[in-house]
Amino acid sequence: MGTSSAVEIDAWLRGGGLVVTASERTARSLTSAFHRARRLEGLAAWPAPNIHDWQTFVRSAWAERVSDGRLVLNSIQEQSLWAEIIAAAEPQAAHLAGARDRLASLAMEALRLLSNYAPALLNERARAGWDQDAAAFSSWLTAFDGVCRNGRVVSAARLPLELIPVLQADSSERPPLLLAGFDRLLPVQKEFFAAWGACSLAPSGEAASRIAFHAASDPSSELEACAIWCRRQLAANPHARLLVVTQDLRTRRGEMERAFLRFTRAGAFEFSLGMRLDQVALARSASLLLHWLDDAIDEQELDWLFSSGYAATPNELQVLAAFMRATRHRNMQRTSWPLPQFIRQRPGAELPAAWLARMMPVRQRLLDFSRSAHTPLEWADLVAALLHDIGWPDARPLTSAEFQAHHRWQQAIDECASLGFDGRRINWDDFLRAIDRTLSETLFAPESEGAPILIAGPAETAGLTADAVWFMGASEDTWPAVGTTNPLLPLAVQRQAVMPHATAQLDWDLAAIMTRRLLASAHEVHFSFARQSDGVEMRPSRLVVQFAGPPQALQTELKPPPIPEPLTVEFRDATELPFPPGEIAGGSNILTAQSQCPFKAFAIARLGAEDWDAAEAGLTAIERGQLVHDVLHSVWAGPPNGIRSHADLVKIADHLPSFVAEHVRRVLDEKLPSHAREGMPPRYLELEELRLVNLVTEWLRYESTRVPFAVLETEQKSDASIAGLELHLRLDRIDRLIDNSLLVIDYKTGNVTPKSWDLPRPDDVQLPLYAGFATAADERIGGLVFAKLRAGERNREFAGRIKKARETLLGNLNSTTSLVKKPLKDQDLDDWRAYIADRAQNFLNGRAEVDPRDYPNTCERCGLQALCRIEENASLQADENGDDEVDADG
Ligand code: SF4
Repeated sequence: MGTSSAVEIDAWLRGGGLVVTASERTARSLTSAFHRARRLEGLAAWPAPNIHDWQTFVRSAWAERVSDGRLVLNSIQEQSLWAEIIAAAEPQAAHLAGARDRLASLAMEALRLLSNYAPALLNERARAGWDQDAAAFSSWLTAFDGVCRNGRVVSAARLPLELIPVLQADSSERPPLLLAGFDRLLPVQKEFFAAWGACSLAPSGEAASRIAFHAASDPSSELEACAIWCRRQLAANPHARLLVVTQDLRTRRGEMERAFLRFTRAGAFEFSLGMRLDQVALARSASLLLHWLDDAIDEQELDWLFSSGYAATPNELQVLAAFMRATRHRNMQRTSWPLPQFIRQRPGAELPAAWLARMMPVRQRLLDFSRSAHTPLEWADLVAALLHDIGWPDARPLTSAEFQAHHRWQQAIDECASLGFDGRRINWDDFLRAIDRTLSETLFAPESEGAPILIAGPAETAGLTADAVWFMGASEDTWPAVGTTNPLLPLAVQRQAVMPHATAQLDWDLAAIMTRRLLASAHEVHFSFARQSDGVEMRPSRLVVQFAGPPQALQTELKPPPIPEPLTVEFRDATELPFPPGEIAGGSNILTAQSQCPFKAFAIARLGAEDWDAAEAGLTAIERGQLVHDVLHSVWAGPPNGIRSHADLVKIADHLPSFVAEHVRRVLDEKLPSHAREGMPPRYLELEELRLVNLVTEWLRYESTRVPFAVLETEQKSDASIAGLELHLRLDRIDRLIDNSLLVIDYKTGNVTPKSWDLPRPDDVQLPLYAGFATAADERIGGLVFAKLRAGERNREFAGRIKKARETLLGNLNSTTSLVKKPLKDQDLDDWRAYIADRAQNFLNGRAEVDPRDYPNTCERCGLQALCRIEENASLQADENGDDEVDADG
C-alpha cells in the first residue's frame, strides 16, 4: 500500500498531527495502518496516533468548552424522549411500542438532518408552513426542545451547531486538523471546521493505473470471480492488502463467507460491517434466558439455547438436550415453552438437578422484584445478578471474540441503565424491550485481526487505501445506490437543503464522488456486475462505464474450475464395522433407509441420529395419520364394537356415519395427544373429529364396493428374521381375498406411489418386506397395496400391485388402471425378497457409505445433512432425471 494519501496521513500522524475521520471505521482503519507501518519499520514502541472520528471529536470539543451542566443524550436516551413525546401527541398512531419506537427513530433522524443541512429550520417559526406529517413532526420537535431545556439535556445532533459560536468567540490557538475519509463535508461540518481554524482535507491519491470492469453471468459467478481474484493477488504478493467493496453485505454475508473460505482461507478475510448484537450467539443466549424467566419462548429458540453452549455447563446442556429429545419421543412437544411448564414435564428423562436448583430461585427472584417499578439502573443490576446466578455465559474461558461480545453486551445493558437519566422508574417488560431494541440497533464486529482482505460497504471505505480494490454489484440498478428520504420532513425542504437522496442527481453526484475516491485509493481497481439476477437482465452501471469503460466478459482465470474443490479432503473410508446379528428397533424403516442411503440407516439405527419436525400448534401430519390408523383399527377389530368383513360392512351401510362417529369418539378419548387437548380450543377438536368421521366414512363406502373379503389381521405385530437381522414389524392390515390369497394393506394419508417399490433400488421396501417376510410361508400373497385415505373422491383409492385385481379387489376397475395393467407376479416377490435380504446383509456387514439413491431428492427428505455433510461432497451432482416420488407416510 502506498498511495500518496496514505503516505501523507502517515507523515502527519508521525509528526504528532491530529486527524479527524468521517467515521469510526475509518479511524480504526487508519490506526491499524499506522501501527502496521511502525511494525514494518522494525520499531518496538512508538507514540499512539492522534486520530478521532467526527462524533468523538465533537463530543470531546464540547466537553472541553461547554460547562453549563447539560447532559448530552445518548441514542437510547434520546429515543426514549422522542417516544414519550410521540405517545403523548399521537396516542392512537403510537399505540404499539414497535410503531412508537420506529417513529421515534425517524424523528431523531429528521432532527439530525435539520441540524446538519438546514439549521435555520430548527427555529419553530421557520417551520410554520409545514403541514401533515411534517407539521406533526414540527410540533414534536418543539416539545422535544422544551423537554431538553427543562431537563438540562441536549441532543448529540446539536453539538456542532452549539460549538460553532463558542469556537468563533474563542481566539486561542487550536491544533491544525487533517480531515480524512470525508466524501463530502456537510454544511454544518464546513462551518464547524471554518470556525476551528487551520484544517485541510487529506489529498486523494493518484488515479489507479489499472482499471477493469468485469461482466459475470450471475451474482454467484461474480462473487466467485472476486474471491478467486483475491486468492491470485495474495499468491502473487502475500503482504498485499485488498479491499472488496459490496453493497450486499447484510443480505449476502453468509454466501460471501462461504465463497471466500472456498477460494482463500479462514483468517484471510474479515468484514468491516458488524453483525447485529442480537444475532451474536452470546448476546442472543442472554436475551433468551431473560425472556424465558417470566415468559414462554419458542421451541426452536429453546433448542438453539441448549445448543448455544452458553445457557448451562456442558454436562447440563447434554442432559437438557436429552430431555428435549425425550419430550419429542413422548409426543409432548410444544410450539413454545414457559419455564414452569417445561420443568413440570415428565418425559421419562430428568432435568439436571444443579441447573434446576439455579433456574427456579432466579425466576422467583425476578418475579418478586417485578412486583413494582424500578429505576433502569436497578434493573440493569438485577440482570447482571440473574445471569450470574444462572451461570451465563458458563464457567469455561471465553475466546477473544466471545470476550469482546460479552463486553459489548455489558455496554448495551449499561446503555439501558442510562435510561434513568430523568429519574424514571419502569417495569420489567419495558426494560426487557429496551434491551431488545438496543441489541437490535447495536452492531458488533470483533476487533480487526489485520486480515489481508477487508470486505466493506461503499460508505465504510472512505479514507481507506489498499493495494487493490474490487467493487462488486456495479449494475445500473444498484450503483448509484438509491435511498429514501425522511418522511417527516417536507420533500421541498430536503431538496432545497440538498439532503441525501432528495433527488436522483444527488445520488448520482455522491456515487460519482465515491467512485472517484475508490479509484484513487489503490493502484489497481476492478469493478464487476452480474448480467442476470433473480431471472432479471441487468445492465452495467452507467457511472462506472464512464470511469472504466464497457464491461468485459470474465477471463477464464477468474472462473472456478468446473467441479468445485471440496472443503474437506476426500477420504475413501472402506471401514465396515459389522453389526452383530440380532434384534434392532425401527422395523422395516431400517431397510428402507439402507436402500435409500446406507449411511442414513447407519446413522439412524446405530448412531441414534434423528431429524425433528418443528412442533405445531395443533396436530401434526403424523399425528393425524396415526389417528386415522387407530380409527380403522378400531373399526376392523371385530366384535363387540367393530366389524370384520365385507359382509359386515354392507350390513351397517344405512348407519355407517354414526357407526364411524362412535369409533372416532372412542379413539379421540383414548389417543388424542395431550398437547392438542390442552393447547387447542374445543372448536378445533370438534372440527378434527368431523374430519375424521367424514374421511373414514367415505373410505368405508369405497371399500363396500370391493369384491367380498374378510379382515384377517389389523395392526398385527410380527417378527421377521432377515439374514440374521431380527425386525419387529407392525402390519396395518391383512385381508383374506375371495381366492383365499392375502392382501397386505398399508394405510396412507399422504401422496404415495407403488413406483417407490421398483427395483433395482426401491425408495421404500416396507410392503414388499411385509409380503415377503411377515406372512406365513404357506400363505399365498394376492397383492400389496397402499390404501390412500385422502379427502376427495379422486384421491381415494387402492394403489399397488395385485395378481388379479378385477377378480379379487374391485370388479369395476378400468383396464387402463395400473392395478390391472401391471399385475403382481411371483417373480416380483422373489426379486424383492432377494433384494431385501441383500440390504439386511449389507447393514449387518456395516456398509455405511454416503450414497443417496436419488440425490438431491432423497436428501431433501432425510434431514441428516449436517451429519453426513453431503453438501460438501462436490462429486455428487443433482440428477435432474431422477425419480421424484415423495414418501408421505402418515
Ligand atoms: S442427507 Fe442424503 S446422503 Fe446424507 S444421510 Fe441422508 S440420504 Fe444419505
